[in-house]
Amino acid sequence: MSEDSKNDDLEAGYRFDTRAVRAGTERTHFGEHTEAMFLTSSFVHDSAEHAAAKFAGEAEGYIYSRFGNPTVRLFENRLAALEGAEDCRATASGMSAIMSVLMSLTKTGDHVVCSQGVFGTTIQLFSLFTRYGVETSYVPLADPDAWQAAIRPNTRMLFLETPSNPLTEVADLRAIAAIAKRHGIPLVVDNCFCTPALQRPLELGADIVVHSATKYLDGQGRVIGGAVLGSGKYMNDALQPVLRYCGPTLSAFNAWMLAKGLETLSIRMQKHSENALTVARWLEMQPGVERVRYPWLESHPQHALARAQQGAGGAVLAFELAGASDAERRANAWRVVDGCRLLSITANLGDVKSTITHPASTTHGRMSPAARAEAGIGEGMLRVAVGLEDPADICEDLARGLE
Ligand SMILES: *Cc1c(COP(=O)(O)O)cnc(C)c1O
Repeated sequence: MSEDSKNDDLEAGYRFDTRAVRAGTERTHFGEHTEAMFLTSSFVHDSAEHAAAKFAGEAEGYIYSRFGNPTVRLFENRLAALEGAEDCRATASGMSAIMSVLMSLTKTGDHVVCSQGVFGTTIQLFSLFTRYGVETSYVPLADPDAWQAAIRPNTRMLFLETPSNPLTEVADLRAIAAIAKRHGIPLVVDNCFCTPALQRPLELGADIVVHSATKYLDGQGRVIGGAVLGSGKYMNDALQPVLRYCGPTLSAFNAWMLAKGLETLSIRMQKHSENALTVARWLEMQPGVERVRYPWLESHPQHALARAQQGAGGAVLAFELAGASDAERRANAWRVVDGCRLLSITANLGDVKSTITHPASTTHGRMSPAARAEAGIGEGMLRVAVGLEDPADICEDLARGLE
């Protein structure tokens, strides 16, 4: 299979869990059962003529791992089979996936519309691109009219994450995709939180999906990686030149880890979601907890929409502690964090280990208090990325600081 070949597994008609385990596998003549890892920077050719044909794109075959490697291709084909994408390109990180998409779709003078509350570094990336003359406007994720109103003649990309972090707001993907289609602008969805096991944005009308594979695709906190998924035409015409000339390449070792991570993605995401719902329901009953935000709770304002476009709630929830003042709310939140012996105090997520963070003093600590309040991130808010421990142990850990 060449670096540019399409993914054939979709046509085979296998179901999701089967594709997660089998798609993209190509055995060598040794007959290895587990997928081989190709740690090689370059590839040899049969003859001068063969080399010339490969370089001219007239013969199939790998040339150099910056722009094509069989192990990377395994991960790309397997993920494409899960997202229902024609094709996929892996990248060194989630940020390099977003950067490469941005470079492939925009030039000086262009404009991007992005949802408020996306991953903080994504906002930093978009603000870096103002120096190349690409401007970004931010709109409320859950308000399709605001997306419509923000579009300008020079808008070249709509970008969002759903559910949002840490508020777990849900975007109406079909509605925003319809707006994108009407204007002929690609809708790009960062599907990091749900993964294709729970949500497939391309099936709902999005044009491009990006991933931080670092999170749930690996799922065990081992490697950094990213991916871009979409049509074969977009990959070959627009994205491949950016990747080939800029070189944000995923290493074959990391690709192998990620391809193996996909084999357990479905059962991990189901268990993450089950555990998160158990913890969310328990939190709702605790005195001192003012509000719990999790898409699978009936109390979530967009519960019906979440149920219509996601297979389960995912791992991430947020909750707010009561208090007479901001200072008291912060003290109450910090007491819960400091009471944890099991949950890891870290802003990272996407691991089998549960993590807890106080967004107002960490991930969102550099925002002004006014901007934070406007974004809905209060001093009493905590975010938990629920892992695969026994949920009763997670609740007991949180209970110490709540008492
Ligand atoms: C972590 C993350 C990223 C960035 O991914 P890296 O692999 O760390 O570069 C992008 N989007 C979301 C939603 C993330 O959580």
